Amino acid sequence: MRLLVTGGAGYIGSVVASVLIEAGHEVTILDDLSTGHADAIPRRATMVRGNLRDDAARVLAGGTDAVLHFAAKSLVGESVAKPGLYWSHNLGGSLALLEAMRAAGVGRIVFSSTAATYGEPERTPIEETDPTRPTSPYGASKLAVDTALTEYARMFGLGAVSLRYFNVAGAHADAAGQWYGERHSPETHLIPNVLKNALPSASTAGAGGAAVKIFGTDYPTPDGTCVRDYIHVADLAGAHVLALAATEPGQHRIYNLGNGTGFSVRQVVDVCREVTGTDIPAEVGPRRDGDPAVLVASSARIQADLGWRATRDLTTMVTDAWTFAQQRAAAGAR
Ligand code: UDP
Repeated sequence: MRLLVTGGAGYIGSVVASVLIEAGHEVTILDDLSTGHADAIPRRATMVRGNLRDDAARVLAGGTDAVLHFAAKSLVGESVAKPGLYWSHNLGGSLALLEAMRAAGVGRIVFSSTAATYGEPERTPIEETDPTRPTSPYGASKLAVDTALTEYARMFGLGAVSLRYFNVAGAHADAAGQWYGERHSPETHLIPNVLKNALPSASTAGAGGAAVKIFGTDYPTPDGTCVRDYIHVADLAGAHVLALAATEPGQHRIYNLGNGTGFSVRQVVDVCREVTGTDIPAEVGPRRDGDPAVLVASSARIQADLGWRATRDLTTMVTDAWTFAQQRAAAGAR
């Protein structure tokens, strides 16, 4: 198929684009490179630098069978500080994309939604039928896109699947040995932040300069730190391939993507120590605003409907993320 991948220069978008190319699809990437990286784009993809509002119509007019929509602002903290930016990019950009798809007669979309649409859960594991009460403009703007997709399916016969990611981790290598991984700036996510402190350069940061900060140890969890459901980015990519094939005119489906098991921040730090063979120092800090104690997904629905399940464990996620981090460090990347 001829596919448009928006945000294909970002972490998840670049991994999915590379998996789609290896599955035989023709991929065009639309990315403004505001947070993505030009050198993360798979070599066999066609890159268009631009944004959803100004450029989606032109790109789609070239002939596209379906869209995989990743382009978004995705930092919870930033969304609280700059809500207008999040509504404009995430909802405004997505609506422009949907209108451009309608004009070009493109009837299928897979959307990158998020666990943040649920907010503070009433129970775990979270199911798709649970209440959606986002606690940040980020989550609210993504939920608004989900609502728009339901409406476009009903009104215009769009075939849509929203995938609600929990904590995505790990890295992916394509058949040519090119690695795709997480490289946000600033990096806020736990695993890359912990691994950064195991790189040889971290030991030169000075006393106390190379410790990971654990945000809160007084949560109502077994070891007092937050529990999250980590999923390997390659498993996530596999779900996109299945979701694409499952899009049906007039239907909007929503699926959670996790592996159903939670790991605490301390457990993650321990796995990072094991994988790297480094006694990464950790300091306890205050809670981070807006962090729910436990976020674990039920992925029973996508398992039942599409036969998908997570196959890679936390050690594999950390091992792959570590390979990627070392490779970037060796290449002199920051
Ligand atoms: N966390 C932490 N130290 C860090 C980064 C994250 O203790 O340097 C914690 C964070 O408070 C949360 C968990 O690790 O409980 C996962 O955070 P992350 O930002 O990776 O993902 P989120 O769950 O916010 O999407």
